[in-house]
Amino acid sequence: MADINNVIIIGSGPAGYTAAIYAARANLKPILVSGFQPGGQLTITTDVENYPGYEDPIQGPWLMEQMQKQAAHVGTEIINSQVTEVFLNEKVKKLNLDNGKTLNAKTVIISTGAQARWLGLENESKFQGHGLSACATCDGFFFKDKEVAVIGGGNSAAEEALFLTKFATKVYLIHRRDKLRAEKILQDRLNENSKIEFIWNSEVTKFKGNDDLESIDLLNKKDNKSSNLKIDGVFIAIGHDPATQLFKGQLMMDDGGYIITDPDSTKTSIDGVFAAGDVKDKIYRQAVTAAGMGCMAALEVEKYLD
Ligand code: NAP
Repeated sequence: MADINNVIIIGSGPAGYTAAIYAARANLKPILVSGFQPGGQLTITTDVENYPGYEDPIQGPWLMEQMQKQAAHVGTEIINSQVTEVFLNEKVKKLNLDNGKTLNAKTVIISTGAQARWLGLENESKFQGHGLSACATCDGFFFKDKEVAVIGGGNSAAEEALFLTKFATKVYLIHRRDKLRAEKILQDRLNENSKIEFIWNSEVTKFKGNDDLESIDLLNKKDNKSSNLKIDGVFIAIGHDPATQLFKGQLMMDDGGYIITDPDSTKTSIDGVFAAGDVKDKIYRQAVTAAGMGCMAALEVEKYLD
């Protein structure tokens, strides 16, 4: 019989590394499987100004490298591989990796995160961090006294647009239909805010600029007319996809595929399986909240093993 580990952590964002740091310091000898994008969503951002502990802005990839080194330093075994199959319902959990190995563990912490949906247009990745973002809370501050646009019509788009009015002189809300799906109270706030201007029935067809984003081409789907809008920043808010495909049919999830946990806890529907970070959180989605949940998960694992 292969070794039975105390805890295996799946995913290497702030939730995973924080869980690893706490579990290692509790002498649990954790194993962390880093996944296909080691470091997670922060590795595709640039300046981070809202992670506590740093006076000056830091770089997202640097922050994740530090977390990885800290987790390793306190005794985490980090495996750069991907989990391809999980068997969570047994007392001893079994995880198959893409390197052909199988890991066994008494507990599993799932911190596989989520990914913002992007429009899938040419140039989109080039402008990420250069005028194009999927997180107003993270990057809104950099658009003080500038003109920005938010793409989407849900609660996230409405909240991001309202948040951005604190910095920007003007916020366009560009939606592909003529009706928002955001809650009525948010719609009322948008309508009452003089900095917000709606652009209805429209889709972005092109991002333009040299190094930084300078303008976007729009297509009005009602009259089929194209236009160009000069803009300093664009925030895509068309939803997120949690990375939970692997756990479908085993763990309880909500309609959006987010893992359901007990209130004020990281416990999932299966004993010994815990979930932390964006994989279970569609509201806050911050590095610091994910890290906090990673800490909770490790403490709950410790208690479970006791
Ligand atoms: P969402 O509710 O799924 O809304 C996504 C929006 O993006 C929709 O308006 C959709 O248009 C649009 N969209 C999707 N794909 C697009 C594309 N390719 N091009 C252009 N537009 C596109 O996503 P969300 O706003 O991120 O919210 C996700 C969940 O979290 C929801 O359940 C929401 O209620 C919840 N949430 C709650 C709060 C809160 O309670 N404070 C805050 C944020 C989010 P259509 O309308 O035409 O489909």
